[in-house]
Amino acid sequence: MRVLFTTSEVFPLIKTGGLADVSGSLPAALQHLGVDIRLLIPGYPAVLNQLSHLKPIAKLENLPMLAQADLLLGEIAQTKVKVMVIKAASLYERDGGPYADANGLEWLDNALRFGILSKVAAMLSGAHSPLSDWQPDIVHCNDWQTGLTPAYMKLLEHSSAKSVISLHNMAFQGCFAPAWLSTLALPHRNFAIDGFEYHGQLSFLKAGIFYADSVTTVSPSYAKEIQTAEFGFGLEGLLSQRGNEIKGILNGIETSEWNPNTDPHLIKNYNAKSLTGKKQVKRALQEKLALHTNANAPLLGVVSRLTHQKGLDMLVPIMQTLVDAGCQFALLGNGETALESAFRALALNNPGQVSVTIGYNEALSHQIMAAADLFIMPSRFEPCGLNQMYGLAYGTPPVVNATGGLADSVTDTNLISFKNKTANGFVMSEASSASLLSAIKQALNVYTNDAAAWRQIQINGMSQNLSWDKSALAYLATYQALLEA
Ligand code: ADP
Repeated sequence: MRVLFTTSEVFPLIKTGGLADVSGSLPAALQHLGVDIRLLIPGYPAVLNQLSHLKPIAKLENLPMLAQADLLLGEIAQTKVKVMVIKAASLYERDGGPYADANGLEWLDNALRFGILSKVAAMLSGAHSPLSDWQPDIVHCNDWQTGLTPAYMKLLEHSSAKSVISLHNMAFQGCFAPAWLSTLALPHRNFAIDGFEYHGQLSFLKAGIFYADSVTTVSPSYAKEIQTAEFGFGLEGLLSQRGNEIKGILNGIETSEWNPNTDPHLIKNYNAKSLTGKKQVKRALQEKLALHTNANAPLLGVVSRLTHQKGLDMLVPIMQTLVDAGCQFALLGNGETALESAFRALALNNPGQVSVTIGYNEALSHQIMAAADLFIMPSRFEPCGLNQMYGLAYGTPPVVNATGGLADSVTDTNLISFKNKTANGFVMSEASSASLLSAIKQALNVYTNDAAAWRQIQINGMSQNLSWDKSALAYLATYQALLEA
């Protein structure tokens, strides 16, 4: 089976969030299952610089606003997954991130940049593909950036391949002015409610959901939630039409990157059998972040984008109370200015107890995950979430809100779950500061008063199989069902 996996970011080449992690791991896991899989990504500078031995395999012609672009082929060294890269300097070779410039301003031509990514994916599966020796049976699209692919496949490219779109976050839909229709050579007759029109705009994500042969999302709970007004971001009607067809497949984690027993970012490795290394990692992080080197002070970790979704504004009003009760905080993140400032102020007022690092730092994210005693993740919605699973793998029980993938991966500690050894964290009863405080207090109560119970909760999480194998099998079954249909 040949699968073209098209995405706007992939770890370790370029990453802004969980989509990159999934795009790095899932294709590798599918390749292990015998799938002939190739990625298709834009040629950002970070991609071109890191993929050595890229060789041209085709000329891409008849693309909107581009005289010509090149299709290059390379391989991700770590996983040996093949990558096709669109080399189009005017679109992708810029300073800044994949979606925005260095000041966080979105590129004004994102409709074109990702319209072309979508178009090329469709062309490669179409009747007139520029590649003669590799044609996919399945085109797997991810989020709005590749949402136009199923539309191009069905309406223009006469593709015989089947399409799948995975929804990683409904909050981002890629809506653009209708003037882009002509630029992107999309048929005007499909700019309609049964098509890619959304409140007078061209919606990439709606196009994907409407035209894809199969829709998946990254957790079973989120698959249900997005069919409601609260979580569907306006597309709940269309999603509920596809209702039972939407598969929720919980992401795995990349166990070669996220394993406390082998993690090169830690001064000492550890595992479920021996957690003494975790204590050393905690002390090292306390020293590094200028926190008091107190082994008994509960250390609460946060690694996150600082946005409304992640719910960390609920943490701000209760942080001082927790610090006064003896807790320490190690926070790493960036995002909304007001939140960054609120956390910075808490750090200034509590030297030795609150450390706040504003920015993106892969090594520090591993160290916080390993050193912390509790991981705090009160997201208002969370399609899957990876950090809570990293917390589980690192013996750092997560405190989470009961939503999406958090609800599907974290089991609240209570008498029953403790007895049957499924308790692996602490779940808030609602999205509020009071409920977050109450869940943290419950956790601290066990942490401080019952070391054996705490260790059991840690071990329950650490011994779960969080790897990609199970999820990859579920995606493979989805592909097979499409090909047999
Ligand atoms: P989302 O994709 O919504 O941001 P996830 O929990 O699914 O949330 O994935 C977030 C990923 O990004 C994780 O791998 C996490 O460790 C990483 N991450 C988020 N913020 C930072 C940061 N400031 N520094 C390093 N890694 C970060």
